[in-house]
Amino acid sequence: MKKIITILASIILAAGLSACKTACPTTTNTSAMMPPMPAKDRPQHVILVGFDGLSGKCIRDGINAPTIRELMANGSYTLDSRSILPSSSACNWASMFMGAGIETHGYTVWNSKEPDLKARELTENGRFPDIFWAYKKKNPNAEIGYIYEWDGMNFVSDSAATDYRVQTAATNTTATVVNYIKEKKPNFCAVAYDNPDHAGHTSGWDSPEYVATVAELDNSLKQILNAVEEAGIMDETVIIVTSDHGGIDKGHGGMTMNEMERPVVFYGKNIKKNFQITDSTMVYDIAPTIGYMFNVEPPQVWTGRPILSIFEKR
Ligand SMILES: [Zn+2]
Repeated sequence: MKKIITILASIILAAGLSACKTACPTTTNTSAMMPPMPAKDRPQHVILVGFDGLSGKCIRDGINAPTIRELMANGSYTLDSRSILPSSSACNWASMFMGAGIETHGYTVWNSKEPDLKARELTENGRFPDIFWAYKKKNPNAEIGYIYEWDGMNFVSDSAATDYRVQTAATNTTATVVNYIKEKKPNFCAVAYDNPDHAGHTSGWDSPEYVATVAELDNSLKQILNAVEEAGIMDETVIIVTSDHGGIDKGHGGMTMNEMERPVVFYGKNIKKNFQITDSTMVYDIAPTIGYMFNVEPPQVWTGRPILSIFEKR
């Protein structure tokens, strides 16, 4: 009997190995693949709006952010999605876009401009595989935009995979995003505001200045939503609002929940309404979640998982 089992196991193993020679590209995480979302339920557009340093705590505490709250009420959200450690900027933005932690992508500190430790894997572009690269590879005709304020953002996404890429001054970021959405109707656009992080560092994460800055950013978000409406693509769009980390006193980078807990809000096509995500989620789950919406297979090196509970149909 034991011999038969051994022979059977050998046959199964051999069949698996030979199948993988042709059907299992090393860049795809076959164990993480799941039935794709039906094509009719997938969005054609995903707009990610990132606010550097927006904490989960400030939303929980009732900060004035009517647009974010409207998206929460009509979408799916969590206020305790965790950043990776350290709860700093570049390493967390990298994790958000690269679907992995610092041990794997190698961006280890707040201002990493390249992997400080060897990236576990590199694409043909010489970069750790990120969502921009993965989506472009899947759909070369996709229009992909990347609009950011802080210099450091330029280093945490694959510039070869973005069609429109611009650094803006805080005074014209929103207008740039609005014009881009109306003109190009991008399939995927990531926007990274450098606030309320500045307000937090200057005046404190509990300061009136921080509160006022969040209210301004909330108004920017409103203008972006209006642009999506005016572009006539809202029915085919998912909006994601999130951040890289929170803060405490006048800083972040440490291990308190005020620094580590971030809001993530999803709104739009096929997203559940008024749904609070209770699953454990991490900053590196964002890339796989976007990938799932675009039917992009997760690279094997990604550790994040799509947040599946937010979808009406899958
Ligand atoms: Zn930051």
